[in-house]
Amino acid sequence: MTGRHNAYVTLVTNADYATGAAALLRSLKLAGATADMVVLHTGGVGASDLDMLRALGARLVTADLLPTSAAFNERHARAKIHADAPFTKGKKPAFHTPLDNFAKLRLWQLTEYETVIFIDADALVLRNIDRLFAYPEFSAAPNVYETLADFHRLNSGVFVAKPSEETFARMLAKLDAPDAYWRRTDQTFLQAFFPDWHGLPVFFNMLQYVWFNLPELWDWKSISVVHYQYEKPWEKDHPKADRLGPLIELWHAYHSGEGIPDVDALPNPRL
Ligand code: UDP
Ligand code: MN
Repeated sequence: MTGRHNAYVTLVTNADYATGAAALLRSLKLAGATADMVVLHTGGVGASDLDMLRALGARLVTADLLPTSAAFNERHARAKIHADAPFTKGKKPAFHTPLDNFAKLRLWQLTEYETVIFIDADALVLRNIDRLFAYPEFSAAPNVYETLADFHRLNSGVFVAKPSEETFARMLAKLDAPDAYWRRTDQTFLQAFFPDWHGLPVFFNMLQYVWFNLPELWDWKSISVVHYQYEKPWEKDHPKADRLGPLIELWHAYHSGEGIPDVDALPNPRL
């Protein structure tokens, strides 16, 4: 079930997400992950960052951005997406390029693996989740961080997939269809491509805003993956930093490798 035929995969297109991936890789190892750890990376990542990720145990695989049309790229340019569909609930960091997100789909080309678990570079794995390799494509947790209605949408920060060139080719055709517009990039696309997606419990992809928006849902004893959606824990003094102190501290412990707490002993948010 685990071993060479499965892999954890993340994506890194610049130095900031390499920082994120470093903490993620350390967390996977500490959780006793037994599968390969693959970092898909584009030309935007420097050699010293790649060395650091390799030293943490990653298998590095180069990935080009997708060969999408110029019109597609214009429709999904950062300024255009932010103008057409403003982010009103949280702030996307300046180093986040929406077009880069689509390179995630390259994981379907990793056909040396039977099953992969994709995890965003801005997440931490707090407990072993190897059993997800036995789950079907396409399994993902809901995009819950504010209201019950969030359960209708998936979050593409953690998902289970089966690499296949055939699937990848079908994806490219649908992705770059004339006038296709994916408002929240790969996430919107994956939900459309897999309308019958299998729902994982929210605890496999606990979004950081749950900490203050839905604190009764937060339970360290149940959470396997914490996902720092919107502002990143390595951003200095971001707008939500005062409300996310304990989560930011946890991320820094994993990033530095020092003072990593026993997750079962962490205090839940006060209600
Ligand atoms: N990503 C990247 N470079 C970018 C944008 C995204 O490497 O410019 C990758 C990275 O793995 C990141 C994921 O795609 O974690 C999705 O972006 P992000 O996590 O910032 O989105 P959010 O979770 O805030 O919606
Ligand atoms: Mn993310």
